[in-house]
Amino acid sequence: MAEPPLSHTSPEAAALLLRAINGFREVIGCRTGEVFVIPGSGTAAMEAGVVNCVDPQGTLLVLANGYFGERFAHVARAHGIPVDVVRPVTGRSVTPDELEARLGRGGVRAVAMTHVETSTGVLAPVTELCRVAHAHECLTLVDGVCATAGVEEDMEAMGIDVLVTGSQKAIGMPTGLALLGVGTRGRAARDARDGVPAYYLDVNCWRDSMRDPTRYFATHAMNLVRAFDTAIQLILSEGLASRYARHRRHGDAFRAGIEALDLAPVTDPRYLAPTMSAVRYPPGLNDAAFRSAMKTQGVVVAGGLAELAGLIFRAGHMGNIDDAQVLRLVAAVERSLPGAKPGAGVEATARALHG
Ligand code: PMP
Repeated sequence: MAEPPLSHTSPEAAALLLRAINGFREVIGCRTGEVFVIPGSGTAAMEAGVVNCVDPQGTLLVLANGYFGERFAHVARAHGIPVDVVRPVTGRSVTPDELEARLGRGGVRAVAMTHVETSTGVLAPVTELCRVAHAHECLTLVDGVCATAGVEEDMEAMGIDVLVTGSQKAIGMPTGLALLGVGTRGRAARDARDGVPAYYLDVNCWRDSMRDPTRYFATHAMNLVRAFDTAIQLILSEGLASRYARHRRHGDAFRAGIEALDLAPVTDPRYLAPTMSAVRYPPGLNDAAFRSAMKTQGVVVAGGLAELAGLIFRAGHMGNIDDAQVLRLVAAVERSLPGAKPGAGVEATARALHG
């Protein structure tokens, strides 16, 4: 990141971006589709997915398992696309049966869902939801921001037509790249339209530059591209199956630790995400005081969003982390929790990691 930037249309820059793109294809199982790497945050990727691939003549059904699911609805409404939203009880995912029931009533052309909902720690059953959506001839749009490279997310195997994601979470690099995988159906949806109400986020504007990055559309964020390439090579060298198993193991070990401290996720046990956890505070525990105590020990956790503000904390356990970092996270929780039995959480986590 700190190296002098390469000229963004140089052959060296092109080689780096193409290598990163090819590796990323493998990570997201977008073997026959197109990949876009656009300077921007995850929300830009969401907007690009919606504006390019969702038919504004039909309804976009949003499966909103929490705050970030709702964001799809905000984006679509901003573009005048009719939206319907299905919301489960907090901590659960919309189920394939609920999706089936809604799609049976007709009118829906595309279904948007969040793979891992960062506000509730819910892992959605994406493969099953996409199967139902396709049975009703709906396009599937998946937000992978909190899942990509930490949870299996193979577009072709899972039926994801458009994957929108960001660079800063389980991929393991800084914020700043909006990443898109557009599969065959996503491409057909874009091709069915003469134009879209976007310029910078029109995938057709970026298309040539993604195939041959020496061709200019807008300036590639070269230092981020370098970080992206490094991150992708690390992911591939670990191996996708091992990486996903490690995330599951770390998620389980973290939760074993907090359970030993009498804490519990807000998430229904059927939907626990491997990449992060949303943990309910015991009655009377002050959110700001807890998080400030965590910070004093060098560990940053996030607070709750929307109706969960003040009621939970959210801990990430994703990216290129090791056992020691999970133990350190649990140790910090233990020390920030008034009255916790010293060592109880760490011992349970260590047992889960080694057992
Ligand atoms: N979707 C999910 C699941 C997220 O967790 C986030 C960010 N936390 C976003 C979308 C939005 O991404 P960004 O903040 O990078 O725009």
